[in-house]
Amino acid sequence: MNDSTMKNFPVGGVDYPRTIQEFDEWFPSEESCTAYLLKLRWPNGFVCPVCGGAKGWMTDRQQVRCAGCQRQTSVTAGTIFDGTRKPLRMWFQAAWHVTNQKFGSSALGMQRVLGLGSYQTAWAWLHKLRRAMVRPGRDLLKGRVEVDETYVGGEEEGVSGRHTEKKAIVVAAVEIHEPKGLGRIRLHHVSDVSGDSLVGFVRQVVLPGSVILTDGWKGYNALTHYGYTHEKIVLSESGDPAHVALPGVHRIASLLKRWLIGTHQGAVSKKHLDYYLDEYTFRFNRRASSARGLLFYRLIQHSVQIKPAPYSQLTIGEQERGRRPNIF
Ligand SMILES: [Zn+2]
Repeated sequence: MNDSTMKNFPVGGVDYPRTIQEFDEWFPSEESCTAYLLKLRWPNGFVCPVCGGAKGWMTDRQQVRCAGCQRQTSVTAGTIFDGTRKPLRMWFQAAWHVTNQKFGSSALGMQRVLGLGSYQTAWAWLHKLRRAMVRPGRDLLKGRVEVDETYVGGEEEGVSGRHTEKKAIVVAAVEIHEPKGLGRIRLHHVSDVSGDSLVGFVRQVVLPGSVILTDGWKGYNALTHYGYTHEKIVLSESGDPAHVALPGVHRIASLLKRWLIGTHQGAVSKKHLDYYLDEYTFRFNRRASSARGLLFYRLIQHSVQIKPAPYSQLTIGEQERGRRPNIF
């Protein structure tokens, strides 16, 4: 364990590989991958989940045996790698691939790169990795934050404004930096544009005391009851388009749509949309990072901090096996 990891300022070449060459050197074997997971899972040293003991050693089955109670703990137990039959090295390659592609990877791309026999496996791995893109206990947005809804999915004839059947409603929040520039984002799929949905989202992702900028929609009216300063940017009668009033959140919306169509060819079902939103958020919030290896580090770090998602929980949608996608 070194100081840089403990201080949470990981260093390239020390805490994560910077290049594919370094990646291959660092992770030639299962043992090397297990050792890396061990370090990220217990950054302050091993703690036995049974007796709390802090002393243990690796067995040749890549488990940690507690010196106190003799119980063996798998390094992957309780993580997204729990119960995997594939080598950890392959998971590391998947994580490296998905973080090193600027716009991410489709299931087909992942299947090809890893040489996986099954499209379903590639699809399930990507979903597991997406779940790990959200940092457990992540910080709330703060300061000036634009919030608005956007609609992703196919065109609906004769439908306008906030009424939709086929499209999915995504509510987006973005920090606005002064004098210009965008900070972090949060995205969430909501079932409707009621106050419960919209204000509920803001309360989950933005620190009270922040200034929330929205359009004139009444669904945001209750914000002031929860400790936010609410600034309504009401559009003029002459019909200023909303993107003039809320430029940040509209920029996010158009980038998101382009990404869903580009990288994923629109093959995203409503049911799984939130995972794609998490991936987009992960990428956007780290867009300034020049070190792709740092994204790999964060992804593996989150992977060992979250609850496992068994394949049975990831019900694969028919449309994602190549039939017609249902929201684009
Ligand atoms: Zn123990």
